[in-house]
Amino acid sequence: MKSLKRFILVGAPASGKGTQSSFLSTTYDLKPLSTGALLRAEVAAGSPLGLEAKKYMDAAMFVPDEVVNGIVAQWLINNKESGCLLDGYPRTVAQAQTLDAELSKLGLAVDIVVYLNVSAELIEARMLRRKACPKCGETTRNGEELCPKCGAPMIVRTDDNPEAFAKRRKDYETLTLPVVDHYRAQGKVVQIDVTEEGEPEAVSARIAAAIEEYVKA
Ligand SMILES: [Zn+2]
Repeated sequence: MKSLKRFILVGAPASGKGTQSSFLSTTYDLKPLSTGALLRAEVAAGSPLGLEAKKYMDAAMFVPDEVVNGIVAQWLINNKESGCLLDGYPRTVAQAQTLDAELSKLGLAVDIVVYLNVSAELIEARMLRRKACPKCGETTRNGEELCPKCGAPMIVRTDDNPEAFAKRRKDYETLTLPVVDHYRAQGKVVQIDVTEEGEPEAVSARIAAAIEEYVKA
């Protein structure tokens, strides 16, 4: 039996990763790593890495690898006794290689990569079902025609800027998907294919079953 302590969750933007991230951290008692929250904490503390990160965050740019890697490495050292869930990191193969090296210095390794492979068609259909009420601001994700709160006709949500979303999707495909291959070569990937709309709980159940198989293998 493999013992699982360090998880990575990979999934496209709008793949429902946030819900599954909560499921994994609750079910397997994992501390979630949020690089965004860590960076903000470092900035607030005024640490040297935080000051460096702030320059990029103020300019709405990606914080460079050496800064993010340093902050994540420190977090891993501080949490080496706990189960951990990395979500949104590593974003690139270069970050994955650094992560492997940092963990190996501590005598640790990534134990499992859960890859949530939701089809592009399904993600697109989901985006179109995300609606907002122009009258009261209520938001829904099931394509409701009428607002469940005030009864006004709903419109497709426009707060997801389509260009920004397309850019995030492209970055995911070119930069982050190779991270899955990196860990597949280590035999650590559990892949969940989702091609049809269903309840998030059903996807969670499939993830749990796949993890159970992985632990036995
Ligand atoms: Zn309303």
